[in-house]
Amino acid sequence: MIERFDNLLWRIPQHIEGVNFGLSKIRFRPTDFAASLNRLQGVAERLPDLRQALDKMVTGGPPDDLLQQGFAIENDLAQAYSRLSDLLHSEAAKQRVAMDRLAIGIALLILVILLLVGGLMLALIRLHYQHKKVLKLSLMDELTGLGNRRYMLNFTNFLFEQSQHSGLPLSVALLDLDHFKRVNDNYGHPAGDQVLRAFADALINEVRKADVVARIGGEEFCVLMPDTEAKGALEVVERIRLRVSALSHQELGVPVAVTVSLGLASSDNHDTTFEHLYARADQALYEAKTNGRNRVVVV
Ligand code: GH3
Ligand code: MG
Ligand code: MG
Repeated sequence: MIERFDNLLWRIPQHIEGVNFGLSKIRFRPTDFAASLNRLQGVAERLPDLRQALDKMVTGGPPDDLLQQGFAIENDLAQAYSRLSDLLHSEAAKQRVAMDRLAIGIALLILVILLLVGGLMLALIRLHYQHKKVLKLSLMDELTGLGNRRYMLNFTNFLFEQSQHSGLPLSVALLDLDHFKRVNDNYGHPAGDQVLRAFADALINEVRKADVVARIGGEEFCVLMPDTEAKGALEVVERIRLRVSALSHQELGVPVAVTVSLGLASSDNHDTTFEHLYARADQALYEAKTNGRNRVVVV
């Protein structure tokens, strides 16, 4: 029993040392725990008295002194412990609040970043589609929905060079409605527009997917037929001519027949540029007009 008591007396200063060390590592203000430390210090200083009281009691003295000393030390240790425990609890609570605020702050920051990135992406997507729309509109003929002259020019050089490399001809057909001015004069401009739309529908339905169709002027159209020699191209344009002349009054929206003149040229070894090939098709169209219209001329 005395041995255990000895052991206890030996360990108390070590525990006090441990508490001191622990407090120095935690970021409390010294004033927060000075009172507790003083109390512990007081306990440490009273330990020799306690030992004396113990010795006295062992040699037959009354236990009163030892009990008193023991109670006083127990009281001091309990108070120091209680104060330190309060400190730790309040510090832990403060840290919890700080952590909660930090977590909310981080969540808000992530939300703001997500909103910004989302907004930016939406803006970019919208810009991309607007750009595509503008590009499409700039290459499209509003009245007929066909490509316009710029659309056709996007293909010409590429298709011409491709035909030079492959050795397969590129055929170019130029189409011009006959006496179209009369339609406008007799039935009005809106009726003329309807005729142009009916003509464009017929045209697009007679060509292959690979062919490029464009409205290149008021009532002038162009069809580029890649990998198509003169014979095959002639069959296509004849089909177009017949289909146009067979359009019903209902389809046309005017009580007259509409015809078209066509000039056709297919690239050969003499065509050094697309412009040269195009000029030949234009010459053929001119001849179709001067030879009586509603016909195809091939050069
Ligand atoms: P040709 O047989 O010699 O080609 O005679 P044409 O009357 O067809 O040719 P001309 O060049 O004299 O007249 C073309 C007409 O096409 C004149 C113009 O008002 C009309 N036109 C051009 N663009 C449009 C359009 O978008 N809508 C309408 N309704 N008419 C148009
Ligand atoms: Mg014309
Ligand atoms: Mg015309």
